[in-house]
Amino acid sequence: MASFSVCVYCGSRPGELAAYADAAHHVGTFVGQQGWQLVYGGGRAGLMGIVADAALAAGATVVGVIPESLMGRELGHRGLSELHVVETMHQRKMLMAERSDAFLALPGGIGTFEELFEIWSWRQLGYHDKPLGLLNVASYYDALLAFLNSSREQGFMSAAQIDLLQVSDDPQVLLARIAEMAPRATKPNDYRRI
Ligand code: AMP
Repeated sequence: MASFSVCVYCGSRPGELAAYADAAHHVGTFVGQQGWQLVYGGGRAGLMGIVADAALAAGATVVGVIPESLMGRELGHRGLSELHVVETMHQRKMLMAERSDAFLALPGGIGTFEELFEIWSWRQLGYHDKPLGLLNVASYYDALLAFLNSSREQGFMSAAQIDLLQVSDDPQVLLARIAEMAPRATKPNDYRRI
């Protein structure tokens, strides 16, 4: 069994810049080189497919979790170590969270934002204590980070809440940091209480 399991949230589209695909490839390759496990949304579309294929090529165990209704739209990946086809989006996100020791968001759209914010809010509510990372590839998330800071200035978020999110533009640095933090996360999964 892999020593460390990382959940990657990312776009079901590739995005405009080659830097996004490069970063997804880098993340997947690094996960495989470390002998880690990748958990992700189970599709072959966009950055999701790139990260999964790179991880498989580098020898990672790759676990995909996809709702039946999205098998066509997101091109369910048949070459994974494990593909779990579930009924609902909530089952997908719960299983992804349970199977992971840490979470990393790459560039993506509404689905990626929703997944990142959900796992972040679960963390600050105490449902888990696993580390979270945001990979700010080519400044993609600068505007979001500025908005979060403005939310803090306006009194809607605390600095401690913002600090739960590890941010870097370097995939290797960020993955190493959240992997290093993960063993300290000892709280049992408590997602079923949500
Ligand atoms: P996107 O970032 O919009 O390309 O989506 C990335 C992944 O997030 C896809 O696998 C989506 O199915 C998934 N996703 C998870 N939760 C949601 C949600 N509530 N709405 C849309 N997409 C979601």
